[in-house]
Amino acid sequence: MKIPLVDLKAQYQSIKPEIDSAIARVIDSTQFILGPEVKAFEEEVAAYIGAKYAIGVASGTDALHLGLIAAGVGPGDEVITTPFTFIATAEAITNCGAKPVFVDIQPDTFNMDPAKIEAKITKKTKAILPVHLYGQPADMDAILQIAKKHNLKVLEDCAQAFGASYKNKKVGSLADAGCFSFFPSKGLGGYGDGGMVTTNDPSIDEKVRMLRAHGAKITYYHLIPGFNSRLDAMQAAILRAKLKHLDEWNRLRTEIAGAYARNLSRTKGVLPPANKPDSRHSFNYYTLRFAKDINRNELKKSLEAAGIGTMVYYPLSLHLQDAYKSLGYKRGDFPESERAENEVISLPIYPEMTAEQITYITDQIGLLITR
Ligand SMILES: *Cc1c(COP(=O)(O)O)cnc(C)c1O
Repeated sequence: MKIPLVDLKAQYQSIKPEIDSAIARVIDSTQFILGPEVKAFEEEVAAYIGAKYAIGVASGTDALHLGLIAAGVGPGDEVITTPFTFIATAEAITNCGAKPVFVDIQPDTFNMDPAKIEAKITKKTKAILPVHLYGQPADMDAILQIAKKHNLKVLEDCAQAFGASYKNKKVGSLADAGCFSFFPSKGLGGYGDGGMVTTNDPSIDEKVRMLRAHGAKITYYHLIPGFNSRLDAMQAAILRAKLKHLDEWNRLRTEIAGAYARNLSRTKGVLPPANKPDSRHSFNYYTLRFAKDINRNELKKSLEAAGIGTMVYYPLSLHLQDAYKSLGYKRGDFPESERAENEVISLPIYPEMTAEQITYITDQIGLLITR
């Protein structure tokens, strides 16, 4: 059996008429940049997330970058974040001229460990940037409490967590700003790049709106140097069609995760993702951890030979990347992040997966581990 990590074609097939008519609508209108589709999608996302404002931008990376600038992060500042994430989280910080300061992760959620934040706060610290990795909300109460005590901004990296919630509130509504990605393989994915900033702060809304459109409020009158970072109307129209299905898709993802955990519960050395009672994981990725004595890389190869697509998010922590050598970190600085690098694996998950596919995958894992 061949099972890809994600199957974007299966999803398109399931809603083809809606997507095709959304695309045709944009082409008919010839309103390709901003306009009514982007505005409507921003309003729909704001309502869905439970935030006052939502601003469409060109990518998740830009959502983080523009969000940080709007929150006041600039050259010489420090931003506390996790080393166990996609590079864009740190790039957004360095692209502001600021310095990423890493703290290690919790071994059960793979998210920033709030107990390690305070030791890293200096006079230069401006913000904390937690990531809701794989769709699992970070420990926001603890993070927000520290931020309040030290007067720091908090921006959520929600790139993998559209629809996830923490204590009955959607991620992206919990802090100063939420930053989303609509990269095709994300939980709410477009047919190209796209991103969004959500916020309850009118000054962040105003600033991100200016920054995405060359620093102007009125065309050709530029108040600040900005960027060309608008969400395409075509992407907005496609995403509007997909947003209507998101809750159902996330429900199916949760069911698939439950089936994985049940099927694997008797396989020794396999640790399914943590199930936190106060939050709802959106399962953008289904990422397990293997016990130390299991050779993750060998197992990954064997699963691939059995037709099962897998991925390691992420094989090298950010503090060990060549790109960030100048930060001066070394192996051993963040032991949990470095351990996760070698022990995690993400299995196929997409709403259209069948029970038969899930059983095939868990049977293969069982066979390979007990062999
Ligand atoms: C995908 C991702 C981003 C960047 O989003 P793009 O839309 O690809 O620019 C940022 N942070 C995390 C955690 C991501 O997974």
